Formats: sequence, C-alpha cells, structure tokens
Amino acid sequence: MVSVIAIDGPVAAGKTVVGRALAQRLDFRYLDTGVMYRAIAWLALRDGLPIEDEMALGKLAETHPVRLKGQQSDQVLVGEHQVGEELRGSLVSQTVSLVARIPAVRRALVQQQRVLAEEGDIVVVGRDIGTVVLPDAGLKVFLSASPEHRARRRWRETQGQSQAPEFQQVLAETKARDEIDSSRADSPLMPALDAFLLDTDELSVDQVVERILSRIRELTAAGER
Ligand code: C5P
Repeated sequence: MVSVIAIDGPVAAGKTVVGRALAQRLDFRYLDTGVMYRAIAWLALRDGLPIEDEMALGKLAETHPVRLKGQQSDQVLVGEHQVGEELRGSLVSQTVSLVARIPAVRRALVQQQRVLAEEGDIVVVGRDIGTVVLPDAGLKVFLSASPEHRARRRWRETQGQSQAPEFQQVLAETKARDEIDSSRADSPLMPALDAFLLDTDELSVDQVVERILSRIRELTAAGER
C-alpha cells in the first residue's frame, strides 16, 4: 500500500492543485513544503534581515518552527504569527529561492518535514521530496511543463488583482526561480531516479490525478503479487 506520495517539480507545474486533489481522493493529509520556505522568507523580510546572511537566516529557521494546521495544511503559523495570502506576494516569491538555497535553512525545514510525514497517509509537494526529504516514499512523481505554459497559469491567477503583473514579467520570474532552484548546490530541483514523470502541458488536473491514481493501483497490485 502506498502511504507516502512525493510530488516534485518546477514553479507552477501544477503540484499544489494536483497534490490537494490527490490527497482528497485518497483521504490523505496534504503538505506543501514550499509554504514553509515562504514563511521563513516572509519572516526574514519582515525583520529586515539581509538575505545573504546565511547564519542569521539559518538561526531564524531553527528558532521559528513552521506549524501547519488542518488536513490540508491550510493554516500556517510561523513563530506566533498566523500567515496567509502574504506568503504569495511578489516580494516573498522573488526572495524565497534565495532563502531556500541556504543549507542551514534547508536542514531545519527538512527535519520538520520528515516529522510531519512520519505517520504516513500523506501527499508531500516540493522540490526535493523524492530525492532528499523522503527518498523512501512509496510513490515519487515529478511534474513538468514548458516555462510558457507554467507562466501562463501563474499569470492567469494574478488577473483581477490590483497590481497584476505583465505576462513577460511572470515568465521572467518563473525562469529565474527555476534557475536558482535547479542550480543550487544543496538539494537542487531534479527528478528522483525512480520518479514517475508526467508532462502536464496537454493534461487537465483531473487527467494528471487519474494517471497518478492508476500508477498507485499498479504499484499496489505489484506489491500484492
Ligand atoms: O512551491 P513554491 O513555489 O511555493 O515554493 C517556493 C520556493 O521554495 C521554491 O521556488 C523553492 O525555492 C523553495 N522550495 C524548496 N524546496 C521545497 C519546496 C520549496 O527549495 N521542498
């Protein structure tokens, strides 16, 4: 029986929407590890810490555990602050990959992620879940899509906001974040060797979820043979 599912992939590959839907279908918990890095980036910005000060940021992550409440981790607490929409703001989005490059920050958050996943029956989404955080996950999925496709999804989500960005700006930010995430020395974004690879360019969310569910059925049947 597959009890831990890791989903990794670049910016806006559909990890969140697919992960949530999958967790609901399986009645599993859902853990979005990106939120944890965003929470530390938000705290660093709020406290005016220089992003290049690795020691200070590592200490910040160690002393401010990120607590996620609810089956879908929808409430986020960092230190004594409850945070929500501010984690999706453009300043946090532009800063988070620089914070996530710092090994001491990763160490603190990876340790918390492993504890959260310990009980199983969970879908965990991020960048290094299948490779580093939970290499023994029963199923590792790597979602990908072209940068244009992914930026278009992100851009559509911003329409209607008071300061909606131009498409070209979203595309540039998507590529910049992917570049930092893929080239960092510690836990770069990449598929695990045994990951189930899915290109979502031509697939709807439901189709992606169905493919993952059928992969789980295959693995379960193979385990029972
Ligand atoms: O998934 P999301 O876009 O919210 O993630 C924000 C950032 O957090 C990523 O661009 C990446 O820099 C970092 N991250 C990471 N490892 C994870 C999850 C997120 O480095 N497991």
